[in-house]
Amino acid sequence: MDFDVVVVGGGNAGFSAAHSAAERGARVLLLEKAPEPEAGGNSFYTAGAFRFTFDDLDELADLLEPDDRHADAVVPAYPASAFHADMDRVTGGRCDPVLTEVLVSRSADTVRWLAGKGVTWRLMYERQAYLSGGKWVFSGGLCAGTVDGGKGLIAQHTAAAQQEGVEIRYGAEVTELHLDDRGVTYRAGGAEHRVSAGAIVLAAGGFEASPQRRARHLGPEWARAHVRGTPTNTGDVLDLALAAGAAPHGDWSTCHSTAWDADSDPDGGDRELTNQLTRQSYPIGIVVNTAGERFVDEGADFRNYTYAKYGREILRQPGGRAFQLFDAKTRPLLRKEEYDSHPIAAAQAGTLPELAEALGIDPEQLARTAREFNESIVDAEFDPAVKDGRAARVDPPKSHWAVALDTPPYYGFAVGCGITFTFGGVHVDAAARVLDTAGSPIPGLHACGEMVGGLFSGNYPGGTGLTSGAVFGRLAGAGAAGA
Ligand SMILES: Cc1cc2nc3c(=O)[nH]c(=O)nc-3n(C[C@H](O)[C@H](O)[C@H](O)COP(=O)(O)OP(=O)(O)OC[C@H]3O[C@@H](n4cnc5c(N)ncnc54)[C@H](O)[C@@H]3O)c2cc1C
Repeated sequence: MDFDVVVVGGGNAGFSAAHSAAERGARVLLLEKAPEPEAGGNSFYTAGAFRFTFDDLDELADLLEPDDRHADAVVPAYPASAFHADMDRVTGGRCDPVLTEVLVSRSADTVRWLAGKGVTWRLMYERQAYLSGGKWVFSGGLCAGTVDGGKGLIAQHTAAAQQEGVEIRYGAEVTELHLDDRGVTYRAGGAEHRVSAGAIVLAAGGFEASPQRRARHLGPEWARAHVRGTPTNTGDVLDLALAAGAAPHGDWSTCHSTAWDADSDPDGGDRELTNQLTRQSYPIGIVVNTAGERFVDEGADFRNYTYAKYGREILRQPGGRAFQLFDAKTRPLLRKEEYDSHPIAAAQAGTLPELAEALGIDPEQLARTAREFNESIVDAEFDPAVKDGRAARVDPPKSHWAVALDTPPYYGFAVGCGITFTFGGVHVDAAARVLDTAGSPIPGLHACGEMVGGLFSGNYPGGTGLTSGAVFGRLAGAGAAGA
């Protein structure tokens, strides 16, 4: 046996599995398809937001890096019951109850476990809080993330793995799984290599970066979605697992997708800007298509609970394009790191018709849309930190945070649909063991991260992907080391 455990994929899930196996004394090999300068998977591109349970800010005090604003932070508790309710509500009751229980119940101690491996944490004021009455009020069940986002997370994971003696081979694409005599074949430097190992952990992501697999499973229109993260998650390892007898699980026909800079590279994320190409301040503006019509309730819920399903709605619009519109009143409230980043598809104008012309929106319909919207706003105080009930009673309605679009200058941001990751995957049990179609664990085979199906469907609560990867990665690594 060359190694005790071989981990396929070097994102957050794969590294979590590697740490967990290594802390049990296993000799671990991690194989990563991308060359070292492009490694880290989707996890590298993230904002580093982790959703986990906690009772109050005091409980997190020793976890978080110091910040003068903590004294003025209002962070609502996030008990397990709320995490369960969010999973149930956003997936329409389609989240696997066994896997969801593992995710929720292990979320908090897994974040602390990662901290013990050297991952550092902060409160995400710029993403998750608004100043309201002199306080930083957090919302959406999510408050903490890793220092320096996904870049920091992967750098710290990599440093920890190296310290633990995990061997990492970059530019190593796994092409075959050997379940009988345990091991994998991978391609590196133009040659095929075979390694043997006591157990295999699959952590190779979903199929979001394969236009063909997207079209097959999600529908033909998904071929034109822009890939937000790594171009290397093409679903090959998912197919290898299914061919080896793993049971498919969860919703293979939907995915996580968001409003994404329309001028971005369609084939993969930008390693410098990473998550900054996202456009997530739409709850305080309006969103129209090229015909000048609104098509979603921008204020249906806190952003964390709508952003992952609105990419799909944008893809359905003419040309797969939409425009987030703001005025002089709302522009200062937009997330700076997203709306002031470069490249950016945007225009600014003194009148709405001029803005429409600059962006390619039907000016007459946009004028009607804005007028009807403005006239329908109920009389309630605007407060972006809470569900303020300041609704616009139009079709479609805007349930909260309706602010009249009437004060120049006007600002428009062109967005397309950015695909983040796919929801279908393999079936695992509560110990992250891969199950066959009869429901029995396949000896020596474990899976984690995006490869796990069954947790999400149609929508997703922000910050859950990284938590899922760490929770199931930790379990997968422990199981593989004990195999
Ligand atoms: C822009 C962006 C922002 C996001 N922000 C957040 C956030 O703030 N919080 C959150 O919870 N989630 C976020 N997500 C989602 C999050 O990235 C994923 O849920 C999570 O990173 C998945 O981790 P993973 O380890 O399963 O996959 P990845 O991190 O994608 O790792 C999979 C790895 O497997 C490798 N691989 C693929 N095929 C092979 C092969 N054949 N052989 C060897 N290796 C292979 C890939 O190269 C890749 O490195 C974001 C995603 C994107 C794209």
